[in-house]
Amino acid sequence: METQPEKGRTPIDSRWKALMVLTAVCLMAFPLWLQRALGKNEITGFVVIDPGHGGIDPGTRGSNGIDEKTIVLAVAKDMIPLLKRDNIRFILTRNRDKYVSLNRRVQIANRRGDCLLLSIHCDYFKQRGMEGFTVLYAQGASHDSRIAAHLIAEGLIHKGFNCHDVRMDTRGLEVLDKSNCPAVLVELGFMSDPHDVRYLTSRSGQHRLAAGLVHGLTTFLRKTQ
Ligand SMILES: [Zn+2]
Repeated sequence: METQPEKGRTPIDSRWKALMVLTAVCLMAFPLWLQRALGKNEITGFVVIDPGHGGIDPGTRGSNGIDEKTIVLAVAKDMIPLLKRDNIRFILTRNRDKYVSLNRRVQIANRRGDCLLLSIHCDYFKQRGMEGFTVLYAQGASHDSRIAAHLIAEGLIHKGFNCHDVRMDTRGLEVLDKSNCPAVLVELGFMSDPHDVRYLTSRSGQHRLAAGLVHGLTTFLRKTQ
């Protein structure tokens, strides 16, 4: 038996209504789909990249005569295109061979607020046998600082570097202690170790370090935003 249309309502009305609903759903979903497709909604965090030392303060010196300040600036600059690729907003505390006080470095992060401070250094130990990178966070550091430290370590391991340690700082480092934001200090390797010096001072090693740091930062920002 043929179904009769409801009184005062034709099948065309129902189809028209269904089409309208479908169109509305598509219009609402399109901006979300477009954002996902462009990857624009993935990361909203902000990072303060702090290459240690600079200017009159060379930091430590490797056996091949290259200063810590030069290595960490090169790695920080190598991070720039990768941060842009991942849509991570950032600022550098120095982008050339210039002295910046520890207080000023922390101020840059604290003025900004709501960011992650990543300070980059190299280690030195008189006796041989110490190698690999170390990631430090302050005593009494926030949960986010600890998470960031571990994810940055994972990022560097992912790029093939040896992890010496991930731990709480016991020296009272100013950039960690005075930061109001989550803060992490990475010692990229030991300038006193011949293997570490090779990657610290080669352009390919510096690129790889930058990639490892950004890998960790991206994972951290995705998890915490
Ligand atoms: Zn240093």
